[in-house]
Amino acid sequence: GTAIVLLTRDLRVHDHPALATTCAAFDRVVPLYVLDPALAGRSANRTRFLHQALAELRTELRERGGDLVVRHGDPVAETIRLAGEVGATAVALSADVSRHARRRERLLRAECERHRLHLRLFPGLTVVEPGALRPGGGDHYRVFSPYHRAWAASRWRAELAAPHRIALPDGVRVGRLPAPPPGGSPEAAAGGERLARQRLTDWLPDLDRYGDQHDDMAGDDTSRLSPYLRFGCVSPLAVANRAGDRSGPFVRQLCWRDFYYQVTAAFPEISTTAYRGGATERWRYDDDALAAWTEGRTGMPIVDAGMRQLRTQGWMHNRARLITAGYLTKHLGQDWRAGVAVFFQWLLDGDVANNSGNWQWVAGTGNDTKPYRGFNPVRQAERYDPAGDYVRRWVPELAGAPGKAVHQPWRLPDELRRTLDYPPPLAVPGTDPVWLR
Ligand code: FAD
Repeated sequence: GTAIVLLTRDLRVHDHPALATTCAAFDRVVPLYVLDPALAGRSANRTRFLHQALAELRTELRERGGDLVVRHGDPVAETIRLAGEVGATAVALSADVSRHARRRERLLRAECERHRLHLRLFPGLTVVEPGALRPGGGDHYRVFSPYHRAWAASRWRAELAAPHRIALPDGVRVGRLPAPPPGGSPEAAAGGERLARQRLTDWLPDLDRYGDQHDDMAGDDTSRLSPYLRFGCVSPLAVANRAGDRSGPFVRQLCWRDFYYQVTAAFPEISTTAYRGGATERWRYDDDALAAWTEGRTGMPIVDAGMRQLRTQGWMHNRARLITAGYLTKHLGQDWRAGVAVFFQWLLDGDVANNSGNWQWVAGTGNDTKPYRGFNPVRQAERYDPAGDYVRRWVPELAGAPGKAVHQPWRLPDELRRTLDYPPPLAVPGTDPVWLR
């Protein structure tokens, strides 16, 4: 028989449950990607990364005798149409958690039933499937630590090899991959499974240092695997297995990713609605402050450095994400949803579960067990960028400010300050964060 594997954000051949299982069970398999105009234009960075990943997936599939079939339009309608064209009897799909993805799954299920197609959902987007672990009496874990304990102790599925051979049905039109669109961040990483595996191999020797170094902003010692995980160019299970120690600090971060997926599966409104019942939301709406933050000219050097890294690389160091998000919500008093939107436009790894989950954590509306905590950006900067190198790299106007004095340019002697083309801060720590007043 013939089956379709509808690919979404699982753009790899290794450890791909939907692809491996379908290839083992069917004579002919059509790996399909549908470019959905409803999703186009959200982020030039992610669109380009996606196109690179698709081109490489096509190469990998061709090396195995198959191909990547590309269509444009509504994924559900195109899948059903293609099933008719090739005489498929089944459709396989990796299960996803966002509101958009869940709606697509529902529509696909209804259409498959109508056309007597067998739809099967597979794991693969996370290490442990959302919903697989439940606390006594609850539908999902609301707090990270107990989730992490259950997650590390749970049985994980077996990793799967890439299929050896994939046979396409005769005469199927494969369709052209459009050229990646121009625009986006000049230093954005390129997409694809080969680069993802290379990155993992190159980075693993640094794993031992991760625990001590991951917060060193200038050191830049984290894996930078997040965009590849976002598009499934590498399997999170394969990354966790290769890293080994399940309770170690690196694999723990992969658990945070799974944690927000299971939160999002249970609470799909995460990108728009406060997660924590009874969270106080009193935001100010100041377009000028939001624009200054977005463009990296708040006058708070560590914040501006982070935002400029985001725009230049389509990626930001986790510590900088915490500081910039904290400054926007707790010092400038702006609604976290505005920050979510800006990050979502630029981030190569931008996804609903991790972006919104982390923003809500910082804003105090999410899973944090201490929602009233605030980050003091100066103290954070002095601690995690002690020599000021991260700031001087991203805010060259401050190159003349020495050492950690770069973190508080408003305190520099007047003669020096006047030579720096840099604005005074919109909000200074030490005064109460707006949000807490
Ligand atoms: P590493 O430190 O090498 O960690 C390995 C992997 O663990 C990452 O690739 C990522 O998949 C996962 N991970 C690490 N930290 C977190 C975390 N706090 N939450 C969930 N997963 C984590 N991550 C995203 O993937 N997409 C987002 O849209 C996103 N938005 C964020 C927004 C805010 C406000 C904050 C504070 C964090 C956000 N993060 C997001 C989490 C984190 O900052 C990035 O995953 C991390 O910086 C990616 O770099 P890395 O791959 O080098 O991470």
